[in-house]
Amino acid sequence: MRRKIIAGNWKMNKTPSEAVALVNELKDLVKNDEVDVVYCVPAIDIVPVAEAVKGTNVKIGAENMYFEESGAYTGEISAAMLKDAGVEYVIIGHSERRDYFKEDDVLLNKKVKKAIEAGITPILCCGETLEQREMGIAVDFIRLQIKSDLKDVAAADVAKLVIAYEPIWAIGTGKTATSEQAEEICKAVRDCVREMYDDDTAEKVRIQYGGSVNAGNAAELFTKPNIDGALVGGASLKADFGKIVNYK
Ligand code: PEP
Repeated sequence: MRRKIIAGNWKMNKTPSEAVALVNELKDLVKNDEVDVVYCVPAIDIVPVAEAVKGTNVKIGAENMYFEESGAYTGEISAAMLKDAGVEYVIIGHSERRDYFKEDDVLLNKKVKKAIEAGITPILCCGETLEQREMGIAVDFIRLQIKSDLKDVAAADVAKLVIAYEPIWAIGTGKTATSEQAEEICKAVRDCVREMYDDDTAEKVRIQYGGSVNAGNAAELFTKPNIDGALVGGASLKADFGKIVNYK
């Protein structure tokens, strides 16, 4: 039985002081020992948020990182820096980074490997555009992303990671995939992992759905056998996140 993982992606929202205020506002609402709860926050909020969640069940995630160890990469943040600050998860390959910052699968593969090497769990994002869905190539496209992003990653490491299926047309649009649509692709992602590795790895990897998840649709999405939680954008910045975490 896979443990559900519900992660908030704060994106470029909340100054350090606003971040601490949000953590305090959500503190009693996000208590649920049956699921893993993660706040993926802007880099500048990591240290104060890590301090503010001490003594709770909430884990800290970053929204991005660079794959090099250290050196002349102005503006970048390394896996070792994140680890030292208390980060346990890192979002890699969010569609906003793929699109606005032109991050490709070769780069993302390097980031996945570096995060694993540093002992940080990647939350690897994949997902199709509306155009790709309408052309009937969503599954093919996502399989390509997974195969490239996990190239040469060992089975034991893949078993521990998190993959977030996020259809681009559902992110920040209020258009959630139906639970059937989400389940269909999450199952295809699991089958892709099975094909690349083995049954054991496929049954262990956790697959989230992301795209306009809110307090009203989370419970239905979580009834599906291949959906192991959610990556939540907008709704993670408000009290609704507590309802998603306590979806039962
Ligand atoms: C996201 O940013 O990963 C996301 C799913 O956003 P939203 O929940 O706002 O659609």
